[in-house]
Order: sequence, then C-alpha cells, then structure tokens
Amino acid sequence: MPIEICTIGGFSECGRNCTAIRVDDEVVILDLGLEMESYIRHTQQDRDNVVKLDAEDLIKVNAVPNLHLISDWMPMVKAIIPSHGHLDHIGAIPFLAVKFPHIPIISTPYTIEVISSILKEERLQLSNELIVKKAGQKYKVSDKITVEFVHVTHSIPHTAMLVVETPYGRVVYANDYKLDMTPTLGKKPDLKRIKELGNEGVDLLICESLYAGEHRKTPSEAVAKQMLKDILNRECSDGHGLVVTTFASQIARIKSIIELGGKLNRKIVFFGRSLRKYLLAAQRIGLLEIPKSIPLLSRRQELDKMMRQINREGQEKYLIVCTGHQGEQRAVLSRIARGELALKLNSKTMCVFSCSVIPVELNIQNREKLERTLRSSGVRIFRDVHASGHASREDHRELIQMLKPTHIVPSHAGFGLAHHLRDLAVEMGYVDQKTVHMMEDGKRLVLE
Ligand SMILES: [Zn+2]
Repeated sequence: MPIEICTIGGFSECGRNCTAIRVDDEVVILDLGLEMESYIRHTQQDRDNVVKLDAEDLIKVNAVPNLHLISDWMPMVKAIIPSHGHLDHIGAIPFLAVKFPHIPIISTPYTIEVISSILKEERLQLSNELIVKKAGQKYKVSDKITVEFVHVTHSIPHTAMLVVETPYGRVVYANDYKLDMTPTLGKKPDLKRIKELGNEGVDLLICESLYAGEHRKTPSEAVAKQMLKDILNRECSDGHGLVVTTFASQIARIKSIIELGGKLNRKIVFFGRSLRKYLLAAQRIGLLEIPKSIPLLSRRQELDKMMRQINREGQEKYLIVCTGHQGEQRAVLSRIARGELALKLNSKTMCVFSCSVIPVELNIQNREKLERTLRSSGVRIFRDVHASGHASREDHRELIQMLKPTHIVPSHAGFGLAHHLRDLAVEMGYVDQKTVHMMEDGKRLVLE
C-alpha cells in the first residue's frame, strides 16, 4: 500500500483541522483543532478558552474532528503533530489525545508551550509525551515516517510547514502560512529549504486556501505595525484615551503595541485571560520580554481596581490592550462597553481593532453590537488595523512554483473557497483536474 491520506476535518468547513497520513501500518495525525463556532455555541465559552468537556459530545456537535472516520486506523497512530498553536489546529488535543494515551505530541516550542498552558490552566492531564522540535529539525516518528519542521510565517510564532517523509514519497502540509519577507518577530520563511524540497520532489501538497481567490500578496506584518504607528502617534498627541484589541496569540502585533506604547510614554496595561495566557507562554520560552511595569490582569477585582486608577489619573496616560476583538460577549471590551467594568468611556476614547472580523454570522453580529454600544458612548472606532496571517493567491503561486507538487489537496476553506486554489494550480500547469483533489471531511485518497 502506498501513501494514503484521510482528510478528517477542515475540508468541508473552515476549522477543526485534522489530516491523517498512513504508510503501511503507520499513521500520523497532523493537527487536531476546534471548529470555533460550534465549540462556542456548544460550550457558551469565549474564543481562546478551553474547558473540560466530553469528547463524544464535541464530536456530535462537529466542534472537533470526528476520529471515528479513521476507526480502522486508530491502533496504528504513532504521533499527533500540530503545525502551529492556533486553536483550530490544537484546540481538540485536550479532548481527543486521551484516545491515544501512549503516543507523543510533537511540535515547535511555542505550539507546545501553548498546549501546556491550556492543560495547566484547565487542570487537564494528558499522559502523552510533549516533544519540542525547532524549525529546521527532523523527528523520526516510526520506522517509515519522519517529520521535518520548516519555518514559515503566519499570525502566531513558530508556525511550521510539516514535511512528512516516507519510503513511498513526500507530503508537504502548509496549513496555515503566509510568505512574509519583513516579519516583525522571528525569521523570514525558510525559502531555501522550501526550494530544496521542490527540487528533491514533492508528491503531495496539502495547502490552505482561505484567500486563494484574493488576487494579491498578503501584506507583511510590518504593514500592520506601520498602520498602528500612524494611528497611535497622530491621535495620542491630542490626549485621547486609547483602547487596542487584537488576537491574543498574535504575539508579533502585541510586541509592536508594547514598542509603540513605550515610545508614547503611556503606561501599558493588558486586560483579559487569554492575553495573559498567550503572553506568558511567549515570555516563558524567551520569545518576548514583557517589562515588569506592564500588568497582565485577568481577575475581575484586579481589572476594576486598575480601571478606577485609570479613571482617576486620566485615560490619556494609558494604553489599554484588551480581549474582545470579535465582540465576544464575555470578553473585556464588551463588558467595558456595557458599563459592567469600572473603566469610563467617553468621546475622547478611541478604540483600535487590530484584527479583521472572522466572517461567520456569530462574529459579525457580535461586532456590530459591540461597535454600536461603543459609539453610543461617543467612542471613535478604527477598524481593520490589520494584516492577515493567511496566504493570498500570489503567495500560493510562489509556494506552488517552489514546491512543484505532483498532487495538491486544498484545505482550510471548504468548497466555497477551495476551488480558487485548484484553479490557480491547474492554470500554473503543475497539476491537472486529475491530480488536484477536492476533498471532503472523511474522504480518503491513495497516492499511486
Ligand atoms: Zn492558523
């Protein structure tokens, strides 16, 4: 039997990423993620919070990958290998890894640190060994499977393109990535190694395709930093209150915010549990130095105490960074907007959304509601001060040109968007209709 893959999750929808690769009687699972909207609906939890829940319930509501789709492969699974630390790639590990108590979870330093933080915070225990591999390193998983971690840029540190080497060929898993040649934290993507892989031969590329229909190259994180700088510098001089919200795992962006806030001589404060969790994880592995003067607060009493101090001293002396960029009801920003926390908003407060709205109904509605509430207090809003972490069509073109794959499977988009990557790959001539495979969740593909 040659290489067989099963696209378990993230192929009929955007989220709960999971792919299994089988070589004879050895299987590796790449990513084990949550589908955030189903998860939030089911648990009534906010984004970025993981709590203890029953795996079978979560499978039933489509919040995690349905591992029953590979029930015949389960005894053969040798490792779980996440590509990066986003919850749609690792968030199901606390619930599903118990099904494989004796296999390791292998990933890059920040990814493993985030997994450990989630487990610790929720007092969950796994017996799986957590193995750290840096970008550029390889790990022999089993007799016939070796995995290599190749550094790429994305919107969370230490994202890897996974290269699965087998005696029958090589699979490259680029889910997620962008090609950012001016990153603001960490290195540029390892194009040298990517090109080498292409020259040595790639049998299958599994590739995210969320923005494959966007005819452009995704702007660099340096562009988002410049956008933030323009707003903060100009508006700050007028004595405004500044509230910035962004993805808690967007450590590069948060580094820029700390840098810019420092130059403005404002006291920086972080509010919110998930910001605290992801920032401390970054600090623990030396990715980011958070000055001792910056409080990372998450408990209600701590928040109110600091907010009363801000009201007393004046918002213009502070730069507030908080959770709630998608308008999540229980996150700090929505609670401030509704007047449930002590911070007093006024017409001199500016709210910077350093993020995009993740385009699902729940987020769109929540954000509209939040912005309406903020505006009713006179708050000025700056939306979309952001650069995406996902590749656009021209990034994909570059990656496909470098890797020259024999087969392609578009991922991370569902059918609505994945066909754009198929069309691009066919147009480029590396694959044809027979060698680009539109997969659904639960489908299997044998590479002959
Ligand atoms: Zn991601």
